[in-house]
Amino acid sequence: MTTPDIPRTEAELRDALRTLNRSGLRGGGRAPHKPLLLLWLIDHRLAVSGTTETRYEEAAEPVGQLIAQHTERVSTPDGQRAALPFRLLEAELWQATDAFSAPLPEKAGHRLLLELGARGRLHPAVEELLGDRGVRDRMRTLLLAEVVGSGTGSTLEQSLRDALPPAEPRYRQVTQRIRDSRFARAVLPSYGNACAVCGFGGLLDGVPVGVEAAHVHAHAAGGPDVVQNGIALCGLHHALFDHGVLGLSEELTLMVSPLFVDGGGNGGGPVAGLHGVPVRQPSETALRIGAEYVGWHTEHVFRG
Ligand SMILES: [Zn+2]
Repeated sequence: MTTPDIPRTEAELRDALRTLNRSGLRGGGRAPHKPLLLLWLIDHRLAVSGTTETRYEEAAEPVGQLIAQHTERVSTPDGQRAALPFRLLEAELWQATDAFSAPLPEKAGHRLLLELGARGRLHPAVEELLGDRGVRDRMRTLLLAEVVGSGTGSTLEQSLRDALPPAEPRYRQVTQRIRDSRFARAVLPSYGNACAVCGFGGLLDGVPVGVEAAHVHAHAAGGPDVVQNGIALCGLHHALFDHGVLGLSEELTLMVSPLFVDGGGNGGGPVAGLHGVPVRQPSETALRIGAEYVGWHTEHVFRG
């Protein structure tokens, strides 16, 4: 990856804004997505908080609406139309990553950006240039012209003023998924993305499938979202762990509930055979499961 040429002067910034890579529109003109994202960042981020740092979750709705107002109708829902510029805005101006500062997967769409907790920010050098009121006004004028040409600027100014982010996250489930996703992205790599019991693991499009980050001290019962309270388990072993069929001893070996009747039928089924087997633990000692969480699970979940 080459280091992007970050603009350091007003002239360089103007050139960068004029040469944004934008696809052509059927009715002539060029796609307004990137200029609209930039205008929103300047008006609703930089002017408000002094930085353009934003989570995709916050930008998706207002920027998507702006794009919808200035393009023809397409099949993409309005609230999802900010995904393209968020991911594709030029690297010389902007850096977008997932919640853990890792690069976004190529072609990540609206849903994946939400799940990854995607966030972005204009480079500090660009923010510094835009911190000068004169520069900011001239760049806004340039961007407005890029979107609407001459004549309809006042409509855009109005819709920009209206493009306030919603005060509350609208979709609680989405927030929940992002929390789960952050926890998973902290826990799973420590376990090599594989079940700590059976070793099952696999990736699809770079994302683990069938293996989950389980809380040892249940989150619903106040267990924290820390790696030491997590364990990577495949879907089957996660279910058995949460139902108390499987537990952990203080030495982090597996315990099988004496109440469990193994459906295998011939005595030594696949679950009974797990008793006493050590669970795989992260190589980094500090990331291993905390004794206090094991104690909670043994007392409240495990059917001993
Ligand atoms: Zn497993």
